[in-house]
Amino acid sequence: MILRRVKSHSQSVFLTFDDGPDPVGTKPVLEVLAKYDARATFFVITDKAKREPTLIEEILSAGHTIGNHSADHAYRHLFRGEAHLRTWIESADQGLRAQGINPVGFRPPAGVLTPHLLAAARASAQPVVLWNERFFDAVIPWGEARARRSAGRLKGGSIVLLHDRQRAARVNKFCKTLDTYLACLEQRGLRFEALTNEICSGVQR
Ligand SMILES: [Zn+2]
Repeated sequence: MILRRVKSHSQSVFLTFDDGPDPVGTKPVLEVLAKYDARATFFVITDKAKREPTLIEEILSAGHTIGNHSADHAYRHLFRGEAHLRTWIESADQGLRAQGINPVGFRPPAGVLTPHLLAAARASAQPVVLWNERFFDAVIPWGEARARRSAGRLKGGSIVLLHDRQRAARVNKFCKTLDTYLACLEQRGLRFEALTNEICSGVQR
């Protein structure tokens, strides 16, 4: 099962933040979300979640949800067979559960899907959660013009890929752009919801 957009929630936008929890970016992102009373979903790397339990606690206590973005974000796994991938997905899931997290689904690093990966996710009963809007903000700075263009045409129910792992030199600009993005979407009457297990598993799609 692959989710790219939540068509049943046409008044909402589902913001997702990947590659954290991050000692630089996560807290400032949480502050912008709080300003708009926005809920979002953080696709975390299990090894980093273990190192940053306080950030995990802050994410959850603010009402956001968490997804599995693999144990280590290492691309070499993506080209392995189903059995290996299943162990890789499930061990990351179990690591998050050991921290009191109930992950909403799995998002492969870079969104790479192979037939083996899909089979492994299915065998692990993990919904695969992708997106229908992205800005490549992990690679190039996310600026206001692109944010405004997206906010003007974004469809309700969209899943937006962003990254709370940001370089220290870029985090202020990123958060300012995020603030503008949320303001523009709010003006269109859209709300910001977190993905849930019900949505990702298809009960509420
Ligand atoms: Zn990632």
